Amino acid sequence: MDVTTMFDPELLQLPFYDDGHRRFADQIGIWCDSYGEVWESVRRTRPDVSGRRLVELLGEDGWLAGLDPAARPHDLPTDLRALCLAREALAYTEDLADFAYSIQSLSATPIIRFGDEEQRRRYLPGMAKGLLVGAFAVSEKEAGSEVAAVGLTAKRSGGDFVLDGAKAWIAHATIADLFVVVARTGEGPGPLGLTTFLVPADTPGVRVEPLDAVAPRSFGHLVFENCRVPAEAVLGRPGKGFVIAIDLLERFRMTVAAAALGFARRAADAALAHTRDRRAYGGTLLDLQLVKASLADMEVRLNAAALLTARAAWECDRGSRGFARHSNIAKVHATEAAQQTVDAAVQLFGAAGVVQDGLPERLYRQIRSLRIYEGSTDVLRMAIAGSLDMRRADRVAERRATKEPS
Ligand SMILES: Cc1cc2nc3c(=O)[nH]c(=O)nc-3n(C[C@H](O)[C@H](O)[C@H](O)COP(=O)(O)OP(=O)(O)OC[C@H]3O[C@@H](n4cnc5c(N)ncnc54)[C@H](O)[C@@H]3O)c2cc1C
Repeated sequence: MDVTTMFDPELLQLPFYDDGHRRFADQIGIWCDSYGEVWESVRRTRPDVSGRRLVELLGEDGWLAGLDPAARPHDLPTDLRALCLAREALAYTEDLADFAYSIQSLSATPIIRFGDEEQRRRYLPGMAKGLLVGAFAVSEKEAGSEVAAVGLTAKRSGGDFVLDGAKAWIAHATIADLFVVVARTGEGPGPLGLTTFLVPADTPGVRVEPLDAVAPRSFGHLVFENCRVPAEAVLGRPGKGFVIAIDLLERFRMTVAAAALGFARRAADAALAHTRDRRAYGGTLLDLQLVKASLADMEVRLNAAALLTARAAWECDRGSRGFARHSNIAKVHATEAAQQTVDAAVQLFGAAGVVQDGLPERLYRQIRSLRIYEGSTDVLRMAIAGSLDMRRADRVAERRATKEPS
């Protein structure tokens, strides 16, 4: 693998990024490149074992240091652009490395943003060192896309809360030490009645039901039965659980776009190399016009996804109030485009593309979930439609009324 292929070096030169980001991209690219044997062995190991090992490795080598703002090195960029660059490089390299990095970041971020001093002191140093594994649990079987429908209850009992119910489809469920859990406390109806709790995995009354996913990873349902936690386990304020969940998802959707970009670039690179080398009809596959067209389409999709992702992260980092809309747009485009690119790569590999555990086949399985989690494409398309500027529509109508002859 060549570091320069993990990113588009011309894109990194655009004013979306500063020199700190460019250095960061170089460093994580070199790091990914230097661990080839680890990525090989990860694929041969049980995903819960390798998941934990990867969180530790990322922590040991400093890639999670941003998760403890009190101790992070000053020259480590920790904004959304850096998070996206890290996910792009890791996804390009190894799905489970990206998964470990993203879920650890996903579960630490609400503590960084909403935790009190004691909660930050208790959890963040361990998470930043990769010694304490986190998971973020909002989804339920009856409340996936509809976060406001969360049904797991947390009832007050003395000074404590007692959690009863279940969470579904939780990443790192089988290896987490800490669950960040959104539960119904009933301060108000729907979204107004949710609260976020920090629940150590060894709390009595928590049970994990492991699941196998299409791309192997630590994954499962959580069951809470008479699970008692103290009032200090509340993250932020009671009734603020929905706000915390949405704040997190809005930020992380663009990072899913970045991961999709990493998978897609890996697929496109592999397809180009394969078609250039594969002899056919007295030349190579790459001599065929339809093959060239397929590769050109990949290139167009990669460029669009990279620009949308960079823009979304830049909007967030500069404090734009409308960044969530760009995060949604980036996720929809990048994940859908990546699926098309990976599928086209499998096609260009022919039979070699469907051999179990070959690169195209792995990417084909790995890319699929990204169009579902943290806001499915369909849900986000509804949100994007809802964010369309109606004042613009009014202005267009006005202009037409004044300029066009009756
Ligand atoms: C690999 C993986 C990891 C995950 N990790 C986590 C995790 O760590 N923590 C966590 O809390 N959850 C996690 N999830 C769950 C994920 O967030 C949900 O699967 C997702 O929100 C969709 O919810 P659902 O599966 O219940 O689908 P549903 O809500 O039942 O939706 C199914 C489909 O219906 C359509 N649909 C639903 N609502 C709308 C709408 N409003 N408009 C248009 N179409 C709609 C869409 O096509 C959607 O894809 C994970 C899922 C996967 C696959």
